[in-house]
Amino acid sequence: MNERLERLSNLPLRDNLKGLAPYGAPQIDVPIQLNVNENTHPLPAEVLEAIGIEVAVAATGLNRYPDREFTELRTRLAGYLGHGLTAENIWAGNGSNEVLQQILQAFGGPGRTVMGFPPTYSMYPLLASGTDTTYVAGIREADFQLSAAEAARQVREVGPDIVFLCSPNNPTGTALRLDVVEAVYAAGMASNTVVIVDEAYAEFAHNGTASALTLLPGRERLIVSRTMSKAFALAGARLGYLAAAPEVTDALRLVRLPYHLSAVTQATANAALKHVGALLANVEAIKGQRDRIVDELTRMGLKPASSDSNFVFFGGLKDPQAIWSGLLEAGVIIRDVGIPGHLRVTAGTEPETTAFLTRLEELLASGL
Ligand SMILES: *Cc1c(COP(=O)(O)O)cnc(C)c1O
Repeated sequence: MNERLERLSNLPLRDNLKGLAPYGAPQIDVPIQLNVNENTHPLPAEVLEAIGIEVAVAATGLNRYPDREFTELRTRLAGYLGHGLTAENIWAGNGSNEVLQQILQAFGGPGRTVMGFPPTYSMYPLLASGTDTTYVAGIREADFQLSAAEAARQVREVGPDIVFLCSPNNPTGTALRLDVVEAVYAAGMASNTVVIVDEAYAEFAHNGTASALTLLPGRERLIVSRTMSKAFALAGARLGYLAAAPEVTDALRLVRLPYHLSAVTQATANAALKHVGALLANVEAIKGQRDRIVDELTRMGLKPASSDSNFVFFGGLKDPQAIWSGLLEAGVIIRDVGIPGHLRVTAGTEPETTAFLTRLEELLASGL
């Protein structure tokens, strides 16, 4: 054990943190970064200018605490989502990861259970552990699909306090049908279960894919979470949010830190939301590159999953680690999500996608 690790192990760390390494994909400075599902397009000039102006105005008030209720931001987020939602239905945090953590702080905790369906977002079990909530892994079918009847059966059996449904799912990319959400919510009635549908990638779904936002009326324990990190190209701004019944936002007010959204964050998000059209202009291009990756990988004999997101999960690889390293040598970083035979790649700009596909085909041709 090195000296630093030994010093760490001498601290009175909580038992469920002992031996852990901090979570996070490698941040390696290579030209083509397709490993964390960012929007790789630069922000449009008009959005950059608007953020600069609004943040400069906010800076003049930085001696004061920000609006603790971030009312303007909640109103703008409600307007963006539509579906008859108002500011009363909206809550936000520093990334949807923080929002998800607040949900676990409010509805999870010691003696309580949260259920997810792996392979899914790897933060769910970590957030569970961090809040001392027991994580129960549900089971998907062999092709990673989840049917309404199966999901409902498992929720009825476990009776969890909270269920995470990720749609489109990370890392597989596929959206859930709404009948799965409806069936899981109905199955959780007996156990008073809070159901979270994590729609971080909703804007990239194929046309006609319905959002769980349409299911909110009459379901007071349903929560739909979203983020500005992916489609909005604002991963660095750290702004995630949710829509739910007003009493859910009241529950989250009990666990949020006062003034958790800085004035700079609020100004950045408000400025961006005045330019939604320009911000989302690249979404169609990214979906085009995503579909191109699926087609090309299929042509190469690999097995890409159907994707409603800005990334593609693909199998059929003999040696994923060697492919990952071979791409990195060429300046392209993608993600090894630890599933045998599989890797995940973010759809970038057209030149970035071309660089990835060209290098991958070379590696496959070399026998990997
Ligand atoms: C990227 C991602 C998030 C968003 O994280 P932020 O904290 O908003 O940046 C949430 N859920 C899933 C499934 C994701 O992939």
